[in-house]
Amino acid sequence: MKVFHGRMDGKPSEQRGPTFTGVVWADPVMPTTDNVTINTVFFSPGARTFWHTHDAGQVLQVTGGSGWICVDGSEPQPIRQGDVVWIGPGERHWHGADASSYLVHLAISIGKADWQEEVSEADYARARSGRPAVDANAGAGR
Ligand code: MN
Repeated sequence: MKVFHGRMDGKPSEQRGPTFTGVVWADPVMPTTDNVTINTVFFSPGARTFWHTHDAGQVLQVTGGSGWICVDGSEPQPIRQGDVVWIGPGERHWHGADASSYLVHLAISIGKADWQEEVSEADYARARSGRPAVDANAGAGR
C-alpha cells in the first residue's frame, strides 16, 4: 500500500509536447506503480492526443469541460464532465477537447502507450461536424 499526496508533493505540471496537438498540460497524480499511471490532463480548446494505443487499456474520467473520444474506424463520440470511458488493450484511438471547450480528464493508464501519427485536421473536423443534436443524443447510452 502506498499513499500519494497528489499536488502536495510539489511536482510541477508538465506541458505535453510531441504526441499532442495544441496546448495540453498534465499533472502527475500517481507515478507509474505496478504498471498503472494516473494523470490529470488539461486540453485547451482544439487540443488532442495523437493516435495511440495502450497495451493494457485506459480509463478516462472526464472531470471538466467537453471533448471527443474516437476509436479508429468508428465515428468520434462526444464526452463531457461525468463521463467515463474504457479503452481496451490495443484499441487505436485519440481523445481531446472540443473546438469550443476545454476538456479535463483523469487518465488511468495501464501498461505502456504506443504513440503514432498526429490526428489530421480532417479527422478532427469529423468530430466537430459530427456533433449530434442535443435531443438526438438523449438516451444514447450516456
Ligand atoms: Mn488514450
